[in-house]
Amino acid sequence: MLTSAEIRQKFLDFFASKGHAIVPSAPIVVKNDPTLLFTNAGMNQFKDYFLGNKKAPSSRIADTQKCLRVSGKHNDLEEVGVDTYHHTMFEMLGNWSFGDYFKKEAIEWSWELLAEVYGIPKDRLYVTIFEGDAKENLPKDEEAFNEWQKWIAEDRILLGNKKDNFWEMGDTGPCGPCTEIHVDCRPDDERKAVDGKTLVNNDHPQVIEIWNNVFIQFNRLKDGSLELLPAKHVDTGMGFERLVRVLQQKTSNYDSDVFTGTIAATEKITGKKYDFSDTKQAIAFRVIADHIRAIAFTIADGQLPSNTGAGYVIRRILRRAVRYYFSYLDMKEPLLYQLMPVLAAQFKTVFPELFQQLDFVGKVVKEEEDAFLRTLEKGLKKIDEVIAQTKGAAINGEAAFELLDTYGFPIDLTRLIAQENNLKVDEEAFEKALTQQKDRSRAATALDTEDWVVLKDTANTSFEGYHTLNTETKVTKYRKV
Ligand code: ATP
Ligand code: MG
Ligand code: MG
Ligand code: MG
Repeated sequence: MLTSAEIRQKFLDFFASKGHAIVPSAPIVVKNDPTLLFTNAGMNQFKDYFLGNKKAPSSRIADTQKCLRVSGKHNDLEEVGVDTYHHTMFEMLGNWSFGDYFKKEAIEWSWELLAEVYGIPKDRLYVTIFEGDAKENLPKDEEAFNEWQKWIAEDRILLGNKKDNFWEMGDTGPCGPCTEIHVDCRPDDERKAVDGKTLVNNDHPQVIEIWNNVFIQFNRLKDGSLELLPAKHVDTGMGFERLVRVLQQKTSNYDSDVFTGTIAATEKITGKKYDFSDTKQAIAFRVIADHIRAIAFTIADGQLPSNTGAGYVIRRILRRAVRYYFSYLDMKEPLLYQLMPVLAAQFKTVFPELFQQLDFVGKVVKEEEDAFLRTLEKGLKKIDEVIAQTKGAAINGEAAFELLDTYGFPIDLTRLIAQENNLKVDEEAFEKALTQQKDRSRAATALDTEDWVVLKDTANTSFEGYHTLNTETKVTKYRKV
């Protein structure tokens, strides 16, 4: 059985053999794009090549990109740990053509890699292509259909709608149809169509989407019309953890060796046993194994937890993880920082930034855990009282605000606990209370409290790691004002 490290390397070697330059992952934290807090797809770092603002250094590029999908257009947070294949942080393997090869090669190579190099049984693979959209004047992707027909039986080529099979960067700009590859991992005897319908992603937990190939061939203009681009591009993304799970023949990403190391370490520290079930305890193991990666790699890439912006996203994920171990693994001491060395060793070669800054990242995480553990128990008591008082109605906005203000409960944590009790939160009233407080504090202080940790204030320099800094002075000294 291939290890996850071997699987990643095979991907990169395969595309290198097809003339691709292999480049490093961009940081998971995005620093100079007002539309994006975190990298959420492999293509983010190449946006300027597609827009024609910059020329790509090579017309063929491949890499593995650290991604985070917890905010904005892609928010998978609530699926994490509950399903078996959505993560907060994940690696997206990708290959790109900038005005070079197009559908024929992209499709041929994805098939060659999956079916020949990795040896996924051909009768477990499905693909989808864009069916067209008359209203939007978009044609069916006949070209992709014809290319797939060379490799796969026609009844395994399914038609997909605009939502799933047409990619657009925004209201205007480069866009085009995509073709997605799905793997049916159900046991043989279950592997027949249900109700005469072939299954794709979302229909069954063991039928999962692994790879998206986008063919950027149009430019959407301001008036909504499409023009053909002079140069056509390929942009692909394959979920690494999903690929590993398929190749290691597991029924869950968490049973692959991407996650078993941190899960085993969690078992050892907590004295609890992980099992593949839907109990709160099992979910807690999965959530922690997932969240620890998001926390570690974003901090290692320069984003400290804080009360605003990207920093607050990290704090929210961290507090969510703390609440899971506190409530469901009976762990009352900081846990996450203890898992950092396992994670750092595992990713030492591919993402060395964590290993190199392990002490610092561990310290930041432990401090965050300590701080939240100081108020968590009282906060949980408070929310229990509130829940008892609601008598089935929504948790009121003022209580949700108090949980945030006094006990440090981010609203999504309150929402999660409410959901566990089949309750809603009065979000409107919460927002109102929050705005009122913001107005009060704005009046009280003229300070800009945005917590972006800008480590160098000159433009065009990149984050070089905490080891170059005096950690004592960092936050105040480098805070953006
Ligand atoms: P899904 O439908 O499963 O949410 P997606 O269509 O949103 O996936 P894409 O935007 O097409 O995903 O991203 C390309 C690939 O990245 C997907 O085919 C999948 O393998 C992987 N991927 C996407 N989101 C996640 C996630 N949250 N965790 C792990 N892998 C992911
Ligand atoms: Mg998705
Ligand atoms: Mg999808
Ligand atoms: Mg997709």
